[in-house]
Amino acid sequence: MDLAKPLPAYLVKRYHGWKATTYTENQFWYRRLATEGQRPRAMVISCCDSRVHVTSIFGADQGEFFIHRNIANLVPPYAPDGDHHGTSAAIEYAVTALKVAHLIVLGHSQCGGVQGCIDMCKGHAPHLEAKESFVGRWMDILKPKYELVADIEDSVEQARQFERQAVVASLENLMTFPFVSSAVESGALSLHGLWTDIGEGGLQCYDPNEKKFVAV
Ligand SMILES: [Zn+2]
Repeated sequence: MDLAKPLPAYLVKRYHGWKATTYTENQFWYRRLATEGQRPRAMVISCCDSRVHVTSIFGADQGEFFIHRNIANLVPPYAPDGDHHGTSAAIEYAVTALKVAHLIVLGHSQCGGVQGCIDMCKGHAPHLEAKESFVGRWMDILKPKYELVADIEDSVEQARQFERQAVVASLENLMTFPFVSSAVESGALSLHGLWTDIGEGGLQCYDPNEKKFVAV
């Protein structure tokens, strides 16, 4: 069996279309990005969900956002234990090497990862409870927040609120990284929590004083 196959035809066609139009029209810009390096002002941590497009909702071009995506836009607690930590590595690089000014955690509606965590907390997802489930063990990060939404009877509203709690958990965990908390305390870095409603195109921002999300 081959380790890898040629690119599917529809992607080859789309690539050549991009190269002939968008790239060609902005060739100078791309060459400058290549020679001058990246200087993004913001890092964004968003979900892998294909419906979440942070570059679209902010009209951002190449070079503007340092983006990390994972299941349910979660940041794990600081744990320098020698294991493989993709999310923590991305945060370390953005904050200590690129020195981004803003770190945005972007949550979203209809998040499958967050729903999986709810199912786990309700005892409805034994496959996620299994030690071998990478998704389940990853979603353990959010479990301590479940008690905040456990009493919400409407399951849709419960999921929307838990999605917002995933953003808050990530912000709190970000502050456990010494290089993040010191950059925040010095004023070099600010953290931002957002939640987007996919169907409505809505965007809400976390207000830590009111402890709630307000429309942008
Ligand atoms: Zn998601």
